[in-house]
Amino acid sequence: MKNIVFLIICLSGLFSYGQIKSEIEERLSNIYDFALTESKSYNWLDHLSNDIGGRLSGSLNAERAVLWVKEELEGLGLDSVWLQPVMVPKWVRGTYEYANIESSPGNTINVNICALGGSIATPSSGIRANVIEVKSFEELAELGKEKIKGKIVFFNRPMQANLISTFQAYSGCVNQRYRYAEMAAKYGAAAVLVRSMNLRLDDYPHTGVMSYGNLSLKRRIPAAAISTNDAQLLSSMIALNPKLRFFLKQNCKNYPDVKSYNVIGEIKGSENPEKIILVGGHLDSWDLGDGAHDDGAGVVQSMEVLNIFKSLKFRPKNTLRVVLFMNEENGTRGAKKYAETN
Ligand SMILES: [Zn+2]
Repeated sequence: MKNIVFLIICLSGLFSYGQIKSEIEERLSNIYDFALTESKSYNWLDHLSNDIGGRLSGSLNAERAVLWVKEELEGLGLDSVWLQPVMVPKWVRGTYEYANIESSPGNTINVNICALGGSIATPSSGIRANVIEVKSFEELAELGKEKIKGKIVFFNRPMQANLISTFQAYSGCVNQRYRYAEMAAKYGAAAVLVRSMNLRLDDYPHTGVMSYGNLSLKRRIPAAAISTNDAQLLSSMIALNPKLRFFLKQNCKNYPDVKSYNVIGEIKGSENPEKIILVGGHLDSWDLGDGAHDDGAGVVQSMEVLNIFKSLKFRPKNTLRVVLFMNEENGTRGAKKYAETN
């Protein structure tokens, strides 16, 4: 008898477990079906990347993105949608940069460069100087002030192509872009050229953030990325003629900080509204691309999570919040502001 009771308890346990399992499976399959057939994310991404486009912090496009995303989230009928103000840097590229390699007086080859985010401009007549190529900070330090003063320092350490994690390859090189202008300026360099952070050989220089650390305004020097193809060309031309000169001209500018916003929306949790599950991406992007991948996709996927819950009428037990952060690319001010206040 005892055994029969035990068996019944076990079976009833199995039955309720099975029931829950099939409910979960059904919900998950509804989510998949909805995401694959009725998702708004591709249309959102199309608008964000192609109609709004590049949206660097502090730009008009960044503000357009903020207002548009807020309106879209409001259209989903979330419990609340709001803007969190945050002061962000404003850096403007100005007109396109120009550069050439001068192998002998009057003999030039044009190359592709772009100013790094945060860089100062060159004088309006540009900078023409000899180039010194290095691959590391140690090499730079070894050359010292005497050999660097007045020259353009060319940081040409390539990203390591045999690393499966491309982010590891990026991390192994990105200090050239972020910190080396400050270092080179301390040795009296006239400007800095950095091999574009790119595994491929192509003609597109990639911008990205750089910093002068605590270098005073008057000691700062212009910093630009050079496309990987042109980095190869410059390197081989220096090997043949170490006395060649390089010309660059850029008129980017840093302005005082301006006000922008993180965009936040949420569905309140039915049981634990104070517990928050957060999904998010960053709304800003660099000015030279359309920011579809970095981080438009992250933005629309995060918005879609709330759209799915709302459309399928799933009320989560914990609060489900989407945060679209401003200014990841050149300051992470939005993320810092959110962390400070939550
Ligand atoms: Zn990013």
